[in-house]
Amino acid sequence: MATTCTPSASLSRQVTAGCDENAYKCYQCKKCTSGCPVARYADMHPAMIMRAVQLGQYDMIFDDRFIWLCTGCETCTTRCPQGIDIATIMDELKIMARAQGRIPAGTPSAAMLKLNYDSFVRWGRMWEVELITLDVLKRPTSVKNWLTLGPKMLLKGKINPTLKRGDTLAMKRMVQTAESITKAREAQNAGGQS
Ligand code: SF4
Ligand code: SF4
Repeated sequence: MATTCTPSASLSRQVTAGCDENAYKCYQCKKCTSGCPVARYADMHPAMIMRAVQLGQYDMIFDDRFIWLCTGCETCTTRCPQGIDIATIMDELKIMARAQGRIPAGTPSAAMLKLNYDSFVRWGRMWEVELITLDVLKRPTSVKNWLTLGPKMLLKGKINPTLKRGDTLAMKRMVQTAESITKAREAQNAGGQS
């Protein structure tokens, strides 16, 4: 059975309002997809996401786990002949998905990003020991992965067992500033749409 979609500019408008990037510049050359290290692990891939943004297909994006697999490596951004900052669009879509409570099942990376963020706010830096402990409490099955990964990360200096606090006040100020910018943008968007 053929599927149809009703194109809408609303998603692209929201993305542009949030991060100043224009998905309509994409002409589907797929250079982004061919360089993306996680494109093969989800139903969607970067070029498909761009197309879905152009057409306003919220469900295609938010029901898939691709945006949560995106590591933010920026390979796509570097390769795009149109100069689109695709990685920033992925971040914007994550913000929108979280705000709308549309995080699909099977995306532990989404929970991990939230733990990361909370850790930065609480300690002024990411404290890996807390992060791993909370992850294991939330997802007991992850203990197996951490038992394998943890020692390797420790040996490579990727885990610092001691808590050396960063500048928590500066971090909190930064978060407050970011949140007030987001609120101002949302108010501006709501005003523009009414
Ligand atoms: S590289 Fe740029 S123009 Fe090409 S498909 Fe990706 S986003 Fe579109
Ligand atoms: S930033 Fe995300 S979408 Fe872009 S290449 Fe890296 S993992 Fe893929």
